[in-house]
Amino acid sequence: MFDQLPAYADDPILGLFEVYKADPRPFKVNLGIGIYCDEAGQVPVLESVRAAREAGVGARGPSVYLPTEGGEAYRDAVRELVFGKNADDIVVVQTVAGTGALKVGADFLKGVLPDAAIWMPDPTWANHAAIFAGAGFRVENYPYYAKETGGFDLDGAVSALQKLQAGSVVLLHPCCHNPTGVDPTQAEWHALLDVIEQRGLLPFFDVAYQGFAHGVDEDAWAVRECVRRGIACLVASSFSKIFSLYGERVGALGVHAPKADKARLLGQLKLAIRRSYSCPPALGAALVEAVLSSPASNAQWRAELDAMRGRMREVRTSLHRKLGEALPGRDFGFLVAQNGMFSYSGLSAAQIEALRSRFGVYVVSSGRICVAGLNASNISHVCEALAEVCSG
Ligand code: PMP
Repeated sequence: MFDQLPAYADDPILGLFEVYKADPRPFKVNLGIGIYCDEAGQVPVLESVRAAREAGVGARGPSVYLPTEGGEAYRDAVRELVFGKNADDIVVVQTVAGTGALKVGADFLKGVLPDAAIWMPDPTWANHAAIFAGAGFRVENYPYYAKETGGFDLDGAVSALQKLQAGSVVLLHPCCHNPTGVDPTQAEWHALLDVIEQRGLLPFFDVAYQGFAHGVDEDAWAVRECVRRGIACLVASSFSKIFSLYGERVGALGVHAPKADKARLLGQLKLAIRRSYSCPPALGAALVEAVLSSPASNAQWRAELDAMRGRMREVRTSLHRKLGEALPGRDFGFLVAQNGMFSYSGLSAAQIEALRSRFGVYVVSSGRICVAGLNASNISHVCEALAEVCSG
C-alpha cells in the first residue's frame, strides 16, 4: 500500500541548517535560515518576554483547551498591533504561527472563492506556493524583483495585476520582503493598491517581520492603508521573529471584510481551524498577550524590537563598507537599501558552493543572505570569503 511513496525533497532552507549543524569547522557561519541572532550569535530571549514568564504567565497549571479562535484578550491586543486603534470591524483569530495563519486563510478562501487563483511575487518565500497549492489553489507569479536594478519592479507588478480577473488573490509582503529585502515605497504601495481597488482583487498580506524595517506602525502602513480604503483583505501575522518565540508557534489571521456579517465570518474561520488543528497552543500567546497589553511591557518590547532593527542596520552598513573596501568599483548599495533580515546577494550557484565548502559560510541556493546571522566576530571572515569568491 505504501510501497510507492514519493521522496520528500527536504525544505532546502531547513536541509541546509542540518548540514550546517553537522559541520565541525569552528569558523562556520550560518546565513541561511531566517532566525534573528544577537551580537553574541545567540537567539535572544527578549527581556519583556522573560519578565512576563517570571511574573508567572504560562506557569504550569491545568492545561485546558483554548477557544478555537484563541482568547479574546490576545485577539484584541493583536488587532491593535497590526491594524492600529479603532479597528473593531476586523475579525482576528489566533493561529499556529504565521504558517498556520496562511494555511487557515488559504482553507477559508478556498471555501468561499473555490475558483480563485493566487498570485505571488516572484520570488517569494518558498512555502507560500506549497501552502496555497496544498489548499487547492492555482498558484501564479507576478513580477516583483528587478534584477537589473536590484529594486522593486513596479511597472512589471502593476501591468501583471491589471490583467487579473476580479476576485483573484494577491499575496503581498508589507515589509521586509522575504527573500529579497526589497520593499515598495509608500508611493509604490499607492500604485499597487490603486490597481487592486480598480480590478477588485483580494490582497493577502503576510506580515512576518513587523517592526524589522522601520517600526511597528510604519511597517503596518500598507495594511492599514488598504483597510482605510475599504478594500477587503486578509493579514497573516507571525510572532516568531519579532518576539523571538520561534518554537511556541504564535501568530494570527486578521480579516477585513467590510460587507461580511462578522459572526458568520468568524464562524467560517473557526470551521477552517477546527477541522485542521481544533484550537491553538496556549503558552506563546499568553506571553505575547501579556507583553502587548501592559503599557510598560509593550514599551519595553518596542525598545527591544528597535534594538534588533538597529543591529541589522548596523550590520548592513558595516558589510557594505567592508565589501566596498575589499572589492572597489562594485556597487553594494543594495545592502543598505534593503530591509529586514534578508538580502538578495546575486551570488551564483558556484559562488554559494565555494562559500560553503571553502569558508564554511552557509547561504541558501537563491543567494539570499540572512544578515541577522552576522556580528562583529564573524563579519570579517564573511567579507573575506565573499571578496574571495566574487573576485575569483
Ligand atoms: N511568512 C514569511 C514571509 C516568513 O519568512 C516566515 C518565516 N520564515 C513565515 C511566514 C512563517 O513564520 P512562522 O510560521 O515561523 O511564524
